[in-house]
This record gives sequence, structure tokens and C-alpha cells, in this order.
Amino acid sequence: MKFVPERVEHVRSDEEPLNPQYVGIFGGTFDPPHLGHRRLVELAVEYLGLEKIWVIPAGIPVHRELSGKASVEQRLAWVERTFEGLPQVEVKSWEIQQKAVPAIDTLRRLNQDMPTIVPVWLMGLDAWLHIQGWIGYPEHQQRCLVAVFKRGDGDCPLYAGWQASSRQQWAEVSLRNKGQVVFVDVDIPEVSSTDIRSRILTIQQGSSQLLKGLVCPGMESQIQAVYENKETGVKYE
Ligand code: ATP
Repeated sequence: MKFVPERVEHVRSDEEPLNPQYVGIFGGTFDPPHLGHRRLVELAVEYLGLEKIWVIPAGIPVHRELSGKASVEQRLAWVERTFEGLPQVEVKSWEIQQKAVPAIDTLRRLNQDMPTIVPVWLMGLDAWLHIQGWIGYPEHQQRCLVAVFKRGDGDCPLYAGWQASSRQQWAEVSLRNKGQVVFVDVDIPEVSSTDIRSRILTIQQGSSQLLKGLVCPGMESQIQAVYENKETGVKYE
């Protein structure tokens, strides 16, 4: 991953909150949640110094399909459990209604209702590679800071309108500096929800070790049972 440090001019404005609180926003389908998600959040605390992170599972994702195996309540309960023991994390059920909520709607609402909060959108490299196709793009550049976490070995492009800041500059940037992104070049286990679902379907069923080290300890058999069940599925309208 290429990391491009650049000096950021910090321009303070009268409209800017005096004591902004940086809050990590971590959205996803979590279908199912895994230890890669947890590690990303731990790194956001360690590396970026975030003291608060809101994890927001999507009811219906905007840009993709769900597996249809796990209900939204089930995913929410798993997410709660996956982030247990991290005092900075609060799991928010804002987006679990049966309607797709684009990130930009969440950001507009946050900017309007909680002006002292500076949202820091946390995402893996795969999500960043699609950001230009997000609904409302590029308005995101003025509504949040972005932290992109390495995933695999791909390069990390810097799209038009974004400026890369370093970890040291991070504390100085604010929404006044539009389009700030920090690339977090630290390894996260290469686990994905897709890989977990396909393991469950392709590797010999009944193996108790199948998901060991991939999902939160104690959740393996429940996740396996939900995704290997060919009879049941959740209908999404
Ligand atoms: P799927 O395989 O179904 O696409 P996923 O493993 O990517 O799922 P999501 O719930 O879609 O999980 O991911 C939520 C966010 O977490 C996304 O921004 C994604 O890039 C990031 N993420 C998930 N797993 C990792 C990982 N192993 N390393 C870095 N980022 C990750």
C-alpha cells in the first residue's frame, strides 16, 4: 500500500466547534462479523487514538446483497458480542430498519444533529476502492474524515479531492480541511465474511474447528449452524 504523507494546512473557522470529538463510524453488513472487524476497530483505537467508535450494522446494504441466511437481529446480536470488551465501542441499531440507508444520510444527520462530533469513517481498502460510486459522492469529503485500513496487498489510490494525512497530522485535521484520508498500513488478519460463508458450505460439515480463529470465540457453532442450513433463509423485501 502506498502511503503519501502531505502537510495539511489547518484553517480554524469561527463555525468550527472548539472541542470537536472525533468519533469512529464503522458500518458493514457483518454477515457474519469476524475477527478482522474487531482488529480494525482495535487499530482505530491504538493507531488513531479514537476514544469512541460507533459500529453500525446495515439492515439492507445499499451497494450489495446480503447472504439472506442470518436475520438482522441475529447479525446485530453477533456484532454486539464480537466487540465485547472494547470500552470505546457502542453498537448502534440506527440502520437496521428494512430500508437501505446510504452513508451520506447518516453523515448529514450526524453533522446536523451533533455538530461537535467529527465523524471518522472507518473502512477497509476494498470499500475505499468503491467510494467514488457511493450515493451522494463526493459530498462525503466535507462531512467526515476517512481512515482506510490495509486489506491484502493492493495499492491504495488517492482520488481527486482527497488529501492524505499522516498519523501525526491526524489530531490537527478537521472537517475544515475537506477530504482528509489517513491510510493505516498495519496488517489485519485476511478474513472475510464471504470466505467464512464459503468455508461453511464447502468444507466438511460438522467440523468444530472450521471457524476457529476467524470469529469471536464461543460463536463458531452458532454461526456455522445458521450458514450451513439450506432450508432456512431470511426474506428481504
Ligand atoms: P464480505 O466478504 O461479505 O464482503 P466483509 O468481510 O468485507 O464482508 P463487511 O461487513 O462488508 O465484511 O465489512 C465492513 C467493513 O470492514 C468494510 O469497510 C470492510 O472493508 C472492512 N473489513 C472487513 N474485513 C476486513 C479485513 N480483514 N481487513 C480490513 N478491513 C476489513
